[in-house]
Amino acid sequence: MHCPVCRARLDANLLCRRCGCDLSLARACSQAATRKLHHALQQLWQGNPAQAGRLASEAVALDASEIVRQTAAFIIRCRDRDRLSHTASLQVGPDINRLKLP
Ligand SMILES: [Zn+2]
Repeated sequence: MHCPVCRARLDANLLCRRCGCDLSLARACSQAATRKLHHALQQLWQGNPAQAGRLASEAVALDASEIVRQTAAFIIRCRDRDRLSHTASLQVGPDINRLKLP
């Protein structure tokens, strides 16, 4: 993580060592985003992809860092894949079980 003001690499302190910027709010947002991603992954695992996608989007709104954006993108791809497979099974219907692959 880098300081949003001077781009110095940050350590565990709540004040930037270079410019003295108070980073407590940024750290709180980052931690809240991490909690939302954890919750989103739980929702995905429990079969609630729509809820997972919503939580992933909220995480990115709190912290747009690369790791949060990439994790949220993964969750949203999983959500969309689930929607597509559900839509495909609705379009094909129960006859899909009788299809034989070559
Ligand atoms: Zn700084």
